[in-house]
Amino acid sequence: MAKITISGFMGSGKTLIGNLLSEKLNIPFYDLDNEIEKREKRDIKEIFKESGESYFRKIEKEVLFELLNLEEDFVLSLGGGTITNEESIDLIIKRSIPILLYGDIKIFYKRVKDSDKRPLVNDFQSFLKLYRKREKFYKKIPIKIKSDKDKNEIVNEIVNLLKRIQYEEPQKIIYELGITLNFKKDIFFSIIDNKVFEIFKDRFKIINLYIIKNGEKSKNLYEYFKILDFLSSIKFEKSDLLYGIGGGVVGDISGFVSSTYMRGVQFYLIPTTLLSQVDSSIGGKNGLNLKRGKNLVGTIYLPKETIIDPSFLFTLNKNEILSGLGEVFKYGILRENGIFDFLEEKEKIDFYEIIQLIKLSIEEKINFIKEDLFDNKNKRVFLNLGHTLGHALENITNYGKISHGEAVAFGILFSSYLSLRLKLMEEKTFERIFNVYKKIGFNYEKFLDLNLLKKEKLEHTLLLDKKSRENRLNLVLPVNIGDVRIFNCFNVDEYIKKLFEFVNFLKEEK
Ligand code: NAD
Ligand code: ZN
Repeated sequence: MAKITISGFMGSGKTLIGNLLSEKLNIPFYDLDNEIEKREKRDIKEIFKESGESYFRKIEKEVLFELLNLEEDFVLSLGGGTITNEESIDLIIKRSIPILLYGDIKIFYKRVKDSDKRPLVNDFQSFLKLYRKREKFYKKIPIKIKSDKDKNEIVNEIVNLLKRIQYEEPQKIIYELGITLNFKKDIFFSIIDNKVFEIFKDRFKIINLYIIKNGEKSKNLYEYFKILDFLSSIKFEKSDLLYGIGGGVVGDISGFVSSTYMRGVQFYLIPTTLLSQVDSSIGGKNGLNLKRGKNLVGTIYLPKETIIDPSFLFTLNKNEILSGLGEVFKYGILRENGIFDFLEEKEKIDFYEIIQLIKLSIEEKINFIKEDLFDNKNKRVFLNLGHTLGHALENITNYGKISHGEAVAFGILFSSYLSLRLKLMEEKTFERIFNVYKKIGFNYEKFLDLNLLKKEKLEHTLLLDKKSRENRLNLVLPVNIGDVRIFNCFNVDEYIKKLFEFVNFLKEEK
């Protein structure tokens, strides 16, 4: 559990829903306007009239900060304009689970027009004008819930979001939205990157930490040596716990360090990117890059516990979210698990949907590793869907220009095209995959640049791919949604020829 803040325009039902939710969760309820009135000993309308809006906003911010700094958990309904202050939004996002109630503005107006408590409402036009002014701020609230439906349904939706899920086998994973907002444990030692540290340093009490520079370039042996050296300098012992807090880069280094220092120490993972929550923190694989390729050094070593809290993702930028969705797209095609239908059916893929997708993806990844933890039973290999081309594209763009997930998603699209051309896949299945690709927000245009796809560079990197044998590529190809198989039908030349054919096909699509 954690503090829950409810935002929304006038009439969206913040107070009603907040109240009901607090009853259901058995935690106190606060209404920010009421708290301000108590403190000022006059009502909101009077504050506005006597002291003006800017005075009101100043007090509002102070009261909000005091509440969000309390130890206890509660449900807090915010004022309609609270989120127009940047600092307030920032704090709301870092200290609470921020929920926005949205819906039909005409219904909201109907609800408030008779109330005399609202200082800013005169007629529908001015109501609408004010709403338009605030719309861009509301967009910043990550979890948006439609509020023009039954109140109990809304409350149940929120309660569902907050449910903790725990997996034991083969890896202990605790999933809970907001679990780290109240993190009480003292962490003895943690590896973290500078960006994650800057954003979340208040969330944890870390006694010794090692900060690496954010980004793929830190995943190297030099950084690894420095960490080992640091661990021995602080006399880190086998009974101590090591934490890795961050995205896949921090996770991979932490895993490799933990599996090798003193022949193995216990470690915890707290993944903070979508990609690491749905993929890299599950399954025990870790890896460092060598000059000649990605992840060429590594082990399979499970964390003692992995704590997955989607509230970290509130600060993640769009590109990083999209990158994580590349792996989710992959799970959707690998097996029939509801992910693909979900992606197809939903009007939009926003944070609320992403939370459902995280849960489904964790389950899918667990299923794969249950069957083949040590990657020697030919099951985990399917998780490479889209990765042959994906890795090659990342490699020839020097890791950075395009994200891993974007590259993988394009690789999946190409694999589907190959299946289509080989008559392994029906036209309508290809169209469904293509539509979901576009709907998630992927854009293939950047891959149409022939300078990017230089033949010799591609050839070279594809041959380095660990799945290539004597010039023939082992490819994971989707045959249908939920049915993928391994084929060995192309050599690198033929594969590249098909890729250029695919690029022309996409150019005609435009
Ligand atoms: P990353 O760790 O580089 O994180 C991406 C960026 O997001 C970084 O700049 C980071 O500082 C920032 N960031 C992290 N959390 C944030 C947050 N909550 N808010 C704002 N910014 C935040 O990259 P990634 O995409 O998480 O992981 C990619 C890495 O994972 C690659 O090195 C890849 O090889 C590896 N990987 C490993 C496995 C595995 O099974 N071990 C699987 C897939 C990928
Ligand atoms: Zn991947």
